[in-house]
Amino acid sequence: MTLYTVAEPEFLRLVLPNAEMEVLGEGFRWLEGPVWFADTKTLLFSDIPNNRVMRWCEGGISVFSVRSDFANGHARDLQGRLISCLHGTGSITRRELNGSTTVLAESYEGKRLNSPNDVVVKSDGSIWFTDPPYGINTDYEGGKRVAELPANVYRLEPVSGKLDVVVGDLSGPNGLCFSPDERLIYISESGLQFEPYPVQHIKAFELKGDDKSVQSGKVFHKVEPGFSDGLKADESGNIWSSAGDGVHCISPQGKLLGKILVGATVSNLTFGGRNHSRLFICAGTKLLAIYTNTRGVVWP
Ligand code: MG
Repeated sequence: MTLYTVAEPEFLRLVLPNAEMEVLGEGFRWLEGPVWFADTKTLLFSDIPNNRVMRWCEGGISVFSVRSDFANGHARDLQGRLISCLHGTGSITRRELNGSTTVLAESYEGKRLNSPNDVVVKSDGSIWFTDPPYGINTDYEGGKRVAELPANVYRLEPVSGKLDVVVGDLSGPNGLCFSPDERLIYISESGLQFEPYPVQHIKAFELKGDDKSVQSGKVFHKVEPGFSDGLKADESGNIWSSAGDGVHCISPQGKLLGKILVGATVSNLTFGGRNHSRLFICAGTKLLAIYTNTRGVVWP
C-alpha cells in the first residue's frame, strides 16, 4: 500500500488510494532530472554519479547516453528538443533533431557557469535555469573547480543567445517551475553544501510585465524533513516537491496539503504518462512511479 500523509482534506482528491507505488528501476547511484516525452511515451532521467542518462519506457530501462557530462536537469523546448544542464562542462545544451548537440550557454560576462542544475522552458521559448556550485564542489557529481560566478538564476533567449540574471546569488538555487499561468516562478533554495544550517526553502517570484524579469521573491514554503530539490506544478497550481521522506504537495497559498511517503529521499519528479497524471519520482537509487488524480502542466 502506498502511504500518504493527509494534512488537508483536499489532498484526498489529488491522489488515488488504490494506486500502488511502482518501482520502475533500481540500482542507480543518484537519480535526477526526469523529463517526459509524451510523443514516444518515454522518460529520460539522469544517473549523475554514473555520468549517464537513462531511458525508461513500458518494457524496460536502457542507457540513453553514456558519458553524459554529468547531466542533471532536463526539459524540452517548444520544438520538443532536449535541453540539458551539464555539470561536467558547466553548460546548457540542446540536442538537435539530427542528433548533434548545440551549446546554448556556458559563460556569463566572460566567466564560466558553475554547474547548471535544473531548467524549465517558458511558453515563449525562453529557457530559465539555476546555476549553483553543487556539481563543482565535489568530484562525485561532476568535477571540483573554483566557482567563477555567484549562484544565479538565468534566463536565456536561445535564438539570440542573450543570457540575463533573473535572480542573483541565491543560497543554492536548485529546482524551478512556473505556475500554470506563468505569472510566478518557484525556485527551490537548497543552501550551501557542507553548511550545518543551510538556507532551505521554496521561494516564489512574481514575473514583471515584461515576462523576462521578476519582482523580489518571498518564501513560499519550507519542506520538512529534508528540502526541496526539484518541483513541478499541477494543472490547479499545486506544487509537488521532492522532500526527505517522499513527495510533498503544497497549495498555491503555500500550505502543505499532503505527502506521498516513499521511505527515501526524493531528488526530483515529473508528471508524465497518460494525461500527464502519472508522477515519476527519482528517489535516490530508485526510479518510482505512481498514478495521481491530478495532471501536470502539459509541456507547451
Ligand atoms: Mg536539482
